[in-house]
Amino acid sequence: MANILIVDDSRTSRKILRTMLESAGHNILDEAANGEEGIEKYLDLKPDLTTMDITMPVMDGIEALKQIRMLDNNAKIVMVTAAGQKSKMIEAIKFGAADFITKPFEPDHIISIVNKLTK
Ligand SMILES: [Mg+2]
Repeated sequence: MANILIVDDSRTSRKILRTMLESAGHNILDEAANGEEGIEKYLDLKPDLTTMDITMPVMDGIEALKQIRMLDNNAKIVMVTAAGQKSKMIEAIKFGAADFITKPFEPDHIISIVNKLTK
């Protein structure tokens, strides 16, 4: 069981991720709707793993990834990407993203990534 923070501006995406992860036995500590809120909640809650959407208002997921990894070099952050975001994915690798999940979400893929990173 891992303690997870979900960062995504889409309420629907957050709900889908929460349902998938909870049904696999994981605990959702909280949700955040943009990068800035994500950083605050990360520092407050110290999750085992964070899912981080890329495209969000206020502060996007790449900037939040960069800042969290500067503050905590061990942060495990899985980026949530959509089709056509290859250059963003390359940037995310550079800033230390642990892995990627793609919308539309595939439960088996997500669960195997989370289990691999938090065992
Ligand atoms: Mg988004």
